[in-house]
Amino acid sequence: MSQQVEESEPEPSPELSPGRRHTGLERWCGGGGGGGRLPAAGAQAKEKPPPPSSLPLPLAVRRALASLNKEASRRSEEGSRQGRQRKSKRVVAVDSSKAKTSSEALKICIQQLKWKEFPTGRRLLCDIYWHGVSFHDGEVSRSGQVNKFPGMMEMVRKINFSRAVRTMQELFPDEYKFYPRSWILPEEYQNFADQVRVSKENDSSWKPTFIVKPDGGSQGDGIYLIKDSNDVRMLANLHSKPAVVQEYISKPLLIDKLKFDIRLYVLLKSLYPLEIYIAKDGLSRFCTEPYQEPSSKNFHRVFMHLTNYSLNVHSGNFIHSDNVNTGSKRTFSSILAKLSVRGYDVKKVWSDIITLVIRAIIALVPELKVYHQTYIPPGKPGPTCFQILGFDILLMKNMKPVLLEVNANPSMRIEHEQEVSPGVFEYVSSPVDEEIKVAIIRDTLRLVDPALKKNNHNQSHPTEYSAEHAREEIIEAEAQGMADPLSGTEQNWSPLCLKQVYPKYTRQFSYLLIVERIALLFIRFLGIKGTMKLGPTGFRTFIRTCKLSSTNLSMASVDILYIDIARRWNIIRGERGESGMCLQAFMEAIFHLAQRRYKSPPLREQVEALVNFCEYQLEALDEKHFLYGRATTDQRSGFAMHQPERPRSVTACSPAASFNPKRRANLGCRFCRNSHQCCSVIGLNDVRPQRVKLTQILHPSVMWYFM
Ligand code: ADP
Repeated sequence: MSQQVEESEPEPSPELSPGRRHTGLERWCGGGGGGGRLPAAGAQAKEKPPPPSSLPLPLAVRRALASLNKEASRRSEEGSRQGRQRKSKRVVAVDSSKAKTSSEALKICIQQLKWKEFPTGRRLLCDIYWHGVSFHDGEVSRSGQVNKFPGMMEMVRKINFSRAVRTMQELFPDEYKFYPRSWILPEEYQNFADQVRVSKENDSSWKPTFIVKPDGGSQGDGIYLIKDSNDVRMLANLHSKPAVVQEYISKPLLIDKLKFDIRLYVLLKSLYPLEIYIAKDGLSRFCTEPYQEPSSKNFHRVFMHLTNYSLNVHSGNFIHSDNVNTGSKRTFSSILAKLSVRGYDVKKVWSDIITLVIRAIIALVPELKVYHQTYIPPGKPGPTCFQILGFDILLMKNMKPVLLEVNANPSMRIEHEQEVSPGVFEYVSSPVDEEIKVAIIRDTLRLVDPALKKNNHNQSHPTEYSAEHAREEIIEAEAQGMADPLSGTEQNWSPLCLKQVYPKYTRQFSYLLIVERIALLFIRFLGIKGTMKLGPTGFRTFIRTCKLSSTNLSMASVDILYIDIARRWNIIRGERGESGMCLQAFMEAIFHLAQRRYKSPPLREQVEALVNFCEYQLEALDEKHFLYGRATTDQRSGFAMHQPERPRSVTACSPAASFNPKRRANLGCRFCRNSHQCCSVIGLNDVRPQRVKLTQILHPSVMWYFM
């Protein structure tokens, strides 16, 4: 499924290349969902606000809080007044000129919502820009909302995604078992060959099959199965073509003897704060030839092994059906109903799928944040983003879900090509696609309705818990199908087909956010806007500011470490000759420093200890800045040196202003337009009295707001 191009039309099916022997494999994936099952829906206790602290606050702090409240309520009243005035007149404007194959479904949704569509674009600004491919489709708006995140398309490419998951697997091996063990070709070919050899030596009953997928491929293009690492070399000139080789799930769950996968739609509604919704229903795409475990005799049978709709639609066995319960493309709910009748625990399946989705997105978030600050720099005009993602999931025989890939541009076509008479093809509507996709687009629009956003801002006050409360209220209101606040008509909407899973389940996953905290350190020291790579001076200053150098780690060895890791990653990423350290390289440096500093594994604890230490140093430094003025040497090195080109307000919103990980999730700033990344970390909306720190209260973003 495509990341580079929008998933769309079927291509002629490529033959799978022949391989050798036949065997099965499943052992690595036994734990699918890993630990930490989600509680059953409804059992999730709402997070209760801790009681207010009785600790007296310094006078300056109380004054700052009081003026914050005053100003926020003034804005709130003003906002509500304006909102009321607008209510009767304003209709949400959607620019669909770049929607491509989603246009048909989008049009239906806009009509249902009684919004206004601009199919050829609009000279004036629109509220929502619907892009068919990427954030960069045409000129990026300076305001409004775009349905793509910068960098998402790059991040879900097979190699980048495998790398992001690998980082998580290194830290949390049990939690990330849902993604098949993968190696990147050609660079990890030797690793792949060695690991397979060793595994086979240790367990002679292990007879794996591997699937090789070209990095830029989509719709099953160029995919083939192999039994042995040597087959990679024999089959293609992979030393010049980047690809991922992955363990093949040879025992999938079958229905009617056919292999099938699940296309699940996930809405990443916001990155700052992280908000994830999962569609309550998805699509199941069936193979069109009865499944047999892989063997050299059937390796080439695409209709048996690959579930891609774009391939199977060319099979003579493909069944177009108007019924969601039958045919080669069905609703996921119809599959679950079938499984439930057979006695399977479908609630557990859902719970594992939700866990998988949240964990996969957490793996993507760090890099997405780096892209975000590069393409939508804090303090500069720019849109906010949301995105519908397509998760391709396979259920194993033991009902554990396995993630095959994430699609940045899941097909939103609601019609399909059909041969109406010999040799004559026509687009005919597809009821199954329409049922699922129209609901997803429409409810996505309902969730990103600018009126809700404004209300969210206007209703909130920067007192404790207001952000969470406001959000909860809105979500609940939406879930109850309340009327569109701007339409002025009382419409009885059906409940949303999208279910919020994050921040709802934040608590179970917050420990995974360690990688995001590393990304925030990286962003803080990135410095020059527009760059995604950390220079040698930035890295040195990071080491110095966080007080990481010691007798064991001289600055000379820091320089060597930087050169070594940065150069290697630039070669790996095909950016030979380029300078600077990318986020992945920085992560590697952090892992290295953590292992060096804290001797006893596991890696996760070593890294956590190091990140805590760095954050502590930065917090202490920031407190010092605000207590002793802005012109100290520390400040120059901490902020001024590394954010030289940023306007004052931007520096003020440095994401590293506060690093309390527990406070990070769920927060959005009322003081920066667009809720850019930085302020979500500062957490001004969520200032809890007992945890108030001077760094938060007197943070420049607050000060300048009132100046
Ligand atoms: P593409 O983007 O080219 O569609 P995918 O990763 O989605 O590539 O793989 C295509 C199909 O191959 C999937 O829909 C699935 O049926 C099958 N497949 C991919 N990876 C695996 C795997 N690890 N185990 C079993 N089947 C797989």
